[in-house]
Amino acid sequence: MSYIKEKVAYLRGLAEGLGVGSDSTGKLISEIIATLDVMADAVDENEAAIMELDECVDDIYEEIDNIDELLYDEEDDDDDFVEFECPSCGETAYFDKEMLENSEDLICPACNAPIVTDVDSDED
Ligand SMILES: [Zn+2]
Repeated sequence: MSYIKEKVAYLRGLAEGLGVGSDSTGKLISEIIATLDVMADAVDENEAAIMELDECVDDIYEEIDNIDELLYDEEDDDDDFVEFECPSCGETAYFDKEMLENSEDLICPACNAPIVTDVDSDED
């Protein structure tokens, strides 16, 4: 039993112990205690729902963190490397962007044929 339900149960026992009767005041007190009991149920249900939502939000945050990492990884690859297909052997080679900027005669790592690059490395 939750703390708030225990408090209401205590009030109910107290009212009975004090001999709260069936006069108008007694009826009012009984009705107030019954209302408190209903409210206690509602509070408990809300608390359980909030805890469930809290767990869901935690899971979502974790997923977002993972997506973030994936996106950054892909972005890094795109930023650092440019893909070329060798005109001689058709092999796909990846060159660092800095290599493209600093060297004009790149060589295919598969067949050693020169790869002519007139690609604008600023293009993204
Ligand atoms: Zn080649």
